[in-house]
Amino acid sequence: MEKQLKPETLCVQAGWQPKKGEPRVLPIYQSTTFKYETSDQMAKLFDLEESGYFYTRLQNPTNDAVAAKIAALEGGVAAMLTSSGQAANFFAFFNICEAGDHIVSATGIYGGTYNLLAVTLKKLGIECTFIDQDASEEEIAKAFRPNTKLLFGESISNPGVMILDIEKFARIAHAQGVPLMIDNTFATPINCRPFEYGADIITHSTTKYMDGHATSVGGCIVDSGNFNWDMYADKFPGLCNPDPSYHGLTYTKKFGKLAFITKATSQLMRDLGAIQSPQNAFLLNLGLETLHLRMPQHCKNAQAIAEWLEKHEKVSWVCYPGLISNKHYNLAQKYMPRGTCGVMSFGLKGDRQKTTCFMDNLQLAAIVTHVADARTCVLHPASHTHRQLSEEQLIEAGIAPDLIRLSVGIESVDDIIADLEQALNKI
Ligand code: PLP
Repeated sequence: MEKQLKPETLCVQAGWQPKKGEPRVLPIYQSTTFKYETSDQMAKLFDLEESGYFYTRLQNPTNDAVAAKIAALEGGVAAMLTSSGQAANFFAFFNICEAGDHIVSATGIYGGTYNLLAVTLKKLGIECTFIDQDASEEEIAKAFRPNTKLLFGESISNPGVMILDIEKFARIAHAQGVPLMIDNTFATPINCRPFEYGADIITHSTTKYMDGHATSVGGCIVDSGNFNWDMYADKFPGLCNPDPSYHGLTYTKKFGKLAFITKATSQLMRDLGAIQSPQNAFLLNLGLETLHLRMPQHCKNAQAIAEWLEKHEKVSWVCYPGLISNKHYNLAQKYMPRGTCGVMSFGLKGDRQKTTCFMDNLQLAAIVTHVADARTCVLHPASHTHRQLSEEQLIEAGIAPDLIRLSVGIESVDDIIADLEQALNKI
């Protein structure tokens, strides 16, 4: 029923439907454990014969209500909350990849995810080939191997704000018999619903716009239920073959379209334990209730600021996909016609000292490593997150030494521009 409701209604109402006499607002089930009356009742839960709560590391009603809301917003069949966006991507990869497997990923993705793929998963025997997301289908297809298990990209990349051609990626993945996994953190389902363009699995750092107030680190995995794992059963034995840790149960046979999320919950969450706290899930839910109001405001403010910066004499370049001058403007119009996000990057004319002077003089925009919340903030990766790199290494990593990342909040656009202007006047 929830899928027929509009996103605005889902943001406010999906996930928690109280029955007679129950709290109107989603309660925080602040309990590690859940009570049963007979030993047999609990045994059935451990055998996955019946569904029910028994331990919050696996499932908790507060988390499940919020996961259901995000699933409804994305148009998926099921979702699972994780303790962070990093955990969401790791669980999503590890749910179908094991030692000896291979992943193909876009290069221009969030640095933490790049490290996860390039360094940490490699230690577990999972290799990744990085490709230019703007390369042709033929070129990208060359990166695939018989042991490739998925294709990955970000709908809007962090920090490059590049827009992914999701349909192209879906065609490539499906021609190779693997799912397309999209990190939809920056766009959120308010601005883009990747399942509509052929993506199979979506991940989120809910830490960003979904929470929206910079209070809680969290993540989420959503499954479309569309990928036919059994058609490629030899590639996905973890889903299509019996699981010895559950008495030989086969996820696709027992759970059908819910196989991916059920396996991630009952196997990976059981063994690795990166669950979101119910308290954080409650805060995330409050954020989601206004996501549909905040996203348009972020986009409106960012568009006005990008246009203003582009005309400013002290600014050398601006990268925002809402600008006609942007190389991904047409992709943004196709996949995110209502707007992209509030994040952009730009550079100032002159040396590095001008950049730091500008940033130090900002009063309303704060210097923080975070992005994508209600408050305007800035970061200079060359001085902060990537300060150990030389200028050459920065360029190799795709980060211009003068790149300032600006995350536009939902304050008055006039006040943000006035702040930028007074800081630019001081350099
Ligand atoms: N994915 C994207 C696109 C991100 O921007 C981030 C963090 O900035 C992550 C994943 C990781 O999320 P978290 O910081 O919640 O672990």
